Amino acid sequence: MVEHVVVIGAGVYGAAVAASLTRRGARATVVDSGAPAGGTSGATFSWTNSCGKEPRAYHDLSVASMEAHRRLATLGDWYHEGGNLEWADDDAGRERLRGKVAGVQSYGYEARWLDRADVLRLEPDMDPAALPEDGIAYFPREGWVEPTRLVGHLLAAAASRGAEVVRGDAVTALETGSGAVRAVRLASGREIDADAVVNCAGPRAAEVAAMVGLSLPMSNTHGVLVYTAPAAVWVSRVVHAPRVHLRPDGAGRLLLHTHDGDSAVHVSDTGDITVDRSAVDDVVAAGRALYPGLGDTAVESVRVGERPIPADGLPVLGRAEAVPGFHFAVSHSGATLSVHAGDLVAAEVLGDDQGGVLAPFRFERF
Ligand SMILES: Cc1cc2nc3c(=O)[nH]c(=O)nc-3n(C[C@H](O)[C@H](O)[C@H](O)COP(=O)(O)OP(=O)(O)OC[C@H]3O[C@@H](n4cnc5c(N)ncnc54)[C@H](O)[C@@H]3O)c2cc1C
Repeated sequence: MVEHVVVIGAGVYGAAVAASLTRRGARATVVDSGAPAGGTSGATFSWTNSCGKEPRAYHDLSVASMEAHRRLATLGDWYHEGGNLEWADDDAGRERLRGKVAGVQSYGYEARWLDRADVLRLEPDMDPAALPEDGIAYFPREGWVEPTRLVGHLLAAAASRGAEVVRGDAVTALETGSGAVRAVRLASGREIDADAVVNCAGPRAAEVAAMVGLSLPMSNTHGVLVYTAPAAVWVSRVVHAPRVHLRPDGAGRLLLHTHDGDSAVHVSDTGDITVDRSAVDDVVAAGRALYPGLGDTAVESVRVGERPIPADGLPVLGRAEAVPGFHFAVSHSGATLSVHAGDLVAAEVLGDDQGGVLAPFRFERF
């Protein structure tokens, strides 16, 4: 019987798994080599969506995850369901967007087309000249989360039910006996007995899997996130414009991102990360072209996040057949998925098999 579970990593996944485990009556210890939400969950665009997620099982998992955010949000104010606007500025982009809208509509997902006047009613501070006359897709049930506050809430909930949160101490080894996980060893020398372990190490999940001899193929990528100082500009939802993606980030700050900007990340041989300043200037200029009221608002910080992406792009969730007691909760889109997917993983850790819903996301597919 599983009584005590060690959760490795205190990002959105680790926090969600720990909250669910303790709600289900188990004892949990969450171990993070750094600070909670100090990994990818602290440097993410955190748009909640199922906008073009394929195959169907991944779409359905994402939709159920958006619903889980709605339910949890009755306990706090970290979730913002303002919708998402998206448009393109060339024929290929418009064709892609039409295909995406038709695809999600065929799954029963809410999406509709707006024209410039509709969008200006939603976002009156946008420059009309930056918008096409029509062909603007609107996904009203999408939104964004404040991941650090979400992690804080989930860990506090777990701690209030007896969980221990260990900070600044990395898991360096996993002990097995008769093939099953028995204990984790930390950099400090501490050893913690465990009936089960959940790998929520995000971009470092392959290293944790290797501790029990499992090879988890990952194709992580870096992303550049630009946070402005507070500005009195009305941005009230997620916006995917051709040259900039942006959303509010609380207290009047905006968070800006572009895919082009992601290629401005350089990682040195020693692991130092730098970002070309011109890429930051470009994304700010694109933000200002869309919302002229941004004026000369300063950039407050630039963060680089590492997306934890299993090699085929799909989540890796649930038990590892070869190592009893070892479980995965690893994916990109974790800001969307973690509350729901973490709950499914926790249920399975405690013996409630999630065979059907987790079948497409098993580690064994590799
Ligand atoms: C630029 C960017 C944009 C994104 N945009 C979106 C989006 O719009 N919507 C969306 O849903 N998702 C998005 N994501 C993805 C999402 O942010 C991630 O899927 C999610 O944050 C992953 O959470 P996690 O808990 O798995 O990992 P993390 O938050 O990285 O947590 C893992 C934790 O494990 C700890 N750890 C690692 N190894 C060890 C060890 N050996 N011992 C102890 N602790 C360890 C780390 O310190 C870390 O705190 C984006 C990501 C990036 C980078």
